[in-house]
Amino acid sequence: MLSAGKSPGSNFPAIFDEVASIGAQPGEGVTRLAASSEDGMARSVFANWMAEGGARIAHDAVGNQFACFEWAGKDAPWIFAGSHLDTQPRGGRFDGSLGVLAAGYAARDLHADFLAGCLDPIRNLAVVNWTNEEGARFQPSLTGSAVFCGALALEDALALQDVGTVALRDALAAIGIDGENGEVPPQPEAYIELHAEQGRKLLEAGRRIGIVEGTWAARKTTIKWTGRAAHTGPTPMADRRDALLAAALGIVAFEAAVASSFPHLHRSAARLVVEPNSPNVVVDRATVWFELRGPNAEDLDRAWQLIVPAFKKAAEDTGTRMEIAADTLRAAANMETALLALVEETARTRGFEPLTMHSVAGHDAVALQNSGIPSALIFVPSVDGIAHHPEELTQPEDVEAGLVVLTAVLRRLSEGGCHAG
Ligand SMILES: [Zn+2]
Repeated sequence: MLSAGKSPGSNFPAIFDEVASIGAQPGEGVTRLAASSEDGMARSVFANWMAEGGARIAHDAVGNQFACFEWAGKDAPWIFAGSHLDTQPRGGRFDGSLGVLAAGYAARDLHADFLAGCLDPIRNLAVVNWTNEEGARFQPSLTGSAVFCGALALEDALALQDVGTVALRDALAAIGIDGENGEVPPQPEAYIELHAEQGRKLLEAGRRIGIVEGTWAARKTTIKWTGRAAHTGPTPMADRRDALLAAALGIVAFEAAVASSFPHLHRSAARLVVEPNSPNVVVDRATVWFELRGPNAEDLDRAWQLIVPAFKKAAEDTGTRMEIAADTLRAAANMETALLALVEETARTRGFEPLTMHSVAGHDAVALQNSGIPSALIFVPSVDGIAHHPEELTQPEDVEAGLVVLTAVLRRLSEGGCHAG
């Protein structure tokens, strides 16, 4: 079982269960979309818990939350640790929340040591909750971390709209976030994120701690087929220009092309919007969100050369028009070597032989690392690799291992045990 924290009230399972209950429905997992009222509640619970533990709370204009421990003084450099509190629709309890709350737990523990004179910090620590990591409600994902590190303009982020055409700016205002509040820390010297693996490699290897050395590239492309609305009854078949049929052919052609030539790439068509979405109207517009993920961007490019003609053919065969509505590439990333070494050594000294591995999924740590902020991503096992599903689970002893390693790493970094840069 989890050990109790040193500071009174820093009981990890209690805060974890409290946050996990926000947006939870029996059998339906947790739905806490970015900047929803549920997200607002989780943010408040997190902020109150951190403030009780001695933190000063701030947020920036895109809603990233910072629980700040200014141990080494105003002008000292910063370390960040965190993840995200937003979830997918019907998501799990661990994705994101584990990283934020474990970092909060570690920070509270270290703060108690600081007050007792048992921490000798040369860096400050902020626990961060990044806005809209999941990209479920607003695309692109990793919104808050991308804005923080300058990869996405604040105005562009705030103008993002959900399916109901609510702008992120207005959604944030509705939960009380309207501009910057409090003093937001500057760019940190290092960022550490603990996250559930969302795969099976740790369990297969019999390890409790994974250290991510690199992440896969991802190409996310939105294709829109436009046909012509018509009555589903009397309209002669030869006159129909059915955008949904085009999308269906496009999805099948995408899968066939990639599976035959690049079977190692992970691929999906996971979102479809049809208009006008009436049973009696031939579909006028069909928009599909495609993803391709692989170890390097070159393979994604080569696959792309096959896919685009397939999408065009789907349009030709149905008399529709095809356009690329969005196309973004997230490069493969190598995480920071010096930090990897520090996490590895720290894990070993705490009795955990770590597995060095790659992450297929993107995480906030990747956005920060890609912008030049030295970052480390620590994985703990996911039972059966289940992720983005209500049954997502990391066993208590694995959570404990993650907490132990994360706390030890943050202690070393705050005390200056290693220069991350
Ligand atoms: Zn996550």
